[in-house]
Amino acid sequence: MERNLKNVLVISFGFLLLFTAYGGLQSLQSSLNSEEGLGVASLSVLYAALIISSMFLPPFLIEKLGCKWTIACSMCCYIAFFLGNFYSSWYTLIPTSVILGLGGAPLWSAKCTYLTIAGNSYAQKAGKIGRDIINQYFGVFFLIFQSSGVWGNLISSLVLGQSPQQVEISEEDLKCCGAYDCITAAANNTTAFKKPEMTLVYTMLGIYTGSGVLAVLLIVTFLDQIKANEVESEKETMKKESPLSLVLATFRLLKDKRQCFLIPLTMWSGFEQGFLAGDYTKSYVTCSLGIHFVGYVMICFAATNSLCSMLFGKISQFTGRKVLFSFGTLINLSCIIALLLWKPHPSQFAVFFIFPALWGMADAIWQTQTNALYGVLFEKNKEAAFANYRLWESLGFVIAFGYSTFLQVYIKLWSVPAACIVYGGNYHSKNAPVCECKSSRGRGSKGCTMAEDHNTKDTLKPLVFRLHDSVPKMVREVLMERGWSEFDKRQQDKSDWNLYWRNTPFHVTDHRNIKPWQRLNHYPETVKITRKDYLARNLKRMKGIYGSALYEFSPVAFIMPNDYVKFIAEYSKERQSQGRKSSYWICKPVNLSRGRGILIFQDIKDLIYDYVVIVQKYISNPLLISGYKWDLRLYVCVTSFCPLTIYTYEEGLVRFATEKFDLSSLDNVYAHLTNTSINKFGPSYKKDKVGIGRGCKWTFSKCRSYLRSIGVDDLLLWQRINNIVTLTLLAITPSVPLTHNCFELFGFDILIDDKFKPWLLEVNCSPALHLDCSIDATVKKGLLHDVIELLNYKQIDTLRQSKGVRTKASCASNHRLNALSLLLYNLSWKLQEDHLVKRP
Ligand code: ADP
Repeated sequence: MERNLKNVLVISFGFLLLFTAYGGLQSLQSSLNSEEGLGVASLSVLYAALIISSMFLPPFLIEKLGCKWTIACSMCCYIAFFLGNFYSSWYTLIPTSVILGLGGAPLWSAKCTYLTIAGNSYAQKAGKIGRDIINQYFGVFFLIFQSSGVWGNLISSLVLGQSPQQVEISEEDLKCCGAYDCITAAANNTTAFKKPEMTLVYTMLGIYTGSGVLAVLLIVTFLDQIKANEVESEKETMKKESPLSLVLATFRLLKDKRQCFLIPLTMWSGFEQGFLAGDYTKSYVTCSLGIHFVGYVMICFAATNSLCSMLFGKISQFTGRKVLFSFGTLINLSCIIALLLWKPHPSQFAVFFIFPALWGMADAIWQTQTNALYGVLFEKNKEAAFANYRLWESLGFVIAFGYSTFLQVYIKLWSVPAACIVYGGNYHSKNAPVCECKSSRGRGSKGCTMAEDHNTKDTLKPLVFRLHDSVPKMVREVLMERGWSEFDKRQQDKSDWNLYWRNTPFHVTDHRNIKPWQRLNHYPETVKITRKDYLARNLKRMKGIYGSALYEFSPVAFIMPNDYVKFIAEYSKERQSQGRKSSYWICKPVNLSRGRGILIFQDIKDLIYDYVVIVQKYISNPLLISGYKWDLRLYVCVTSFCPLTIYTYEEGLVRFATEKFDLSSLDNVYAHLTNTSINKFGPSYKKDKVGIGRGCKWTFSKCRSYLRSIGVDDLLLWQRINNIVTLTLLAITPSVPLTHNCFELFGFDILIDDKFKPWLLEVNCSPALHLDCSIDATVKKGLLHDVIELLNYKQIDTLRQSKGVRTKASCASNHRLNALSLLLYNLSWKLQEDHLVKRP
């Protein structure tokens, strides 16, 4: 047999022997040493010692002794505990529990290290992938180890069941069993709690100790030492992860909201196991059936637990974790209610086994899913995350065993549903930082991300986002909701992210160094339409090339001071033409946004400017709703400029002025400007305005149904608006350099006049994504979810450091963002060709 596999089998059987003994003894502690709660107190101390030892001891011992001898010595700590049980008292059990606790953590760490090294060494020899072999080794280990729960309990039940004088438990004593158990010393002296015959106890302890000694002998005799070169590399790993640095990393992880959120869940996992092993065994089983049934009952728990662990691991891929957690909660809560109501009686023999079976089922959910969640959420920080897992689970045990003696079972049972409800509510609340939802790809649905969908299979990393300081927090929230994690430059490689979002343009090197799994939220050169003067210039150029019939959607504009002479000429021409009413003009600083520095005028003497501005024809006949001016904020996402691929978001914002439109008061910004940043400070903002309501926003849907109600063909209007978007983007399409993995979310501001003609006012890069009101939340959150879906992250993107080639983004059609592109490709190319031909 291959040497490494032999070693894996030796370790597995060594653990099987040891934990056969320990598992059996742990289930019996609360019943066997029930006086003054000695048994549960010893378990509580044991887990507390385990917490401390897991922080400091493992790396230190493994470095000093090597894996083999750490395993052997740690196993001896377990034997000490078995021996302590021969003469159980506070002076023997508590110290031996501490010894066991101290040995527990190095034992498990040394085993993991050994299997990992063995797996890697074999993989190297056989030319296979290390991770695969390690997984196989762990699979073999758990397959063998899992059955220990059955054997240990079987031994205890068989041995203790040998008692020649099986005591009948009186009806009087039965009254003391169940949720309302009597915790007095007198109660512990009832027939059921009478210690079984000492000879039987000694026989059982003898078998357990023998099993433990056999485990040590097996390891000492048959386990190979890890070779010198392997130890060297192992030491290097140890040096990297010094005990102190792991402790610090463990506590540093507590700053992560997600870790804090997982604490109650993890503690619950230890807590519920503690309840079954400490309280159920004592107050229900031993009390009503006798101690020799504890083993059988716990076998039932162990068996369903292993079976369901395998089953739920598979099921979670289809249902997602949320469903499973809800199912686990349901099982636990119904068991708790039933346990509260049930008066245990030997005549209902089967019921004693139904509870542990159900409990085992729920425990399988908590164990597998919580473990997986840690692996997924803290991919880069697994060591610290699992240290936290062990810490909080052990604390759950410490509490469950620690207070076991002092509280009656019903109080413990009552406290659990309360905690479940508080925590469950929190878990399902939208504030929960861990997104758990089933993969759904419905129209407009907030389906989970690839990361979340794949990670239920426990193999892939979450997708990672990087945000620049000024990015609104909603972007972070949405990505977190979708199961992404945030880039941490202290802990992650500099290219270990999938999406970089900033409100300002990227540096050329960012574009140059882009990796296949990454996306940037800006294209270079889009400023050519997002700065007011550049937009005016580019549209004018397009008008010159393709004719004013096509490019007549933007109001005539002059860039000042350069176009001053041209503007004067136009202004004078209008004034001189007889019988024509002189136009209104709007003057806007090119570098400012949110309505700042805007001036509306009719007479040139009122035109004053300090910066570069554009002076644009003011649309003085806007379509009004109940006398109020409004415009549209349309969201447009471009995922490629070559070929041009545009998505327009079906939903959007209608932004109202908050005072009635009136050309006789041009300086009233609340009547002429529709910016929310201005109107939210207006005196009428909060008032209920006739026809438009409170605030200053509607959704597109509401506006469309309003337009339909007044007989406007909203589809035709939508089509015209889409044409404006395409024609505007075509103005820069040839000049955007060929860059990969970018996208751009634009905000198009469109004003509709009273002839139902849409006008382009401006194009915004990084349109505002903060939330002012509930309409913002509906529109912008849905938008962001759809944009992320559009980016088409694939499973391969989670393998960030491998040389994966990203598949090309496809035009998924299930989004509210409608692709305009397909039909327009031809037009796009034709225009580009013409453009090229016309160039000298
Ligand atoms: P900013 O970037 O400062 O928001 P905009 O060009 O969007 O500048 O103008 C702000 C507001 O002024 C618009 O929302 C619109 O209500 C109004 N506005 C701008 N240009 C015109 C125009 N040509 N005709 C009518 N109203 C306009």
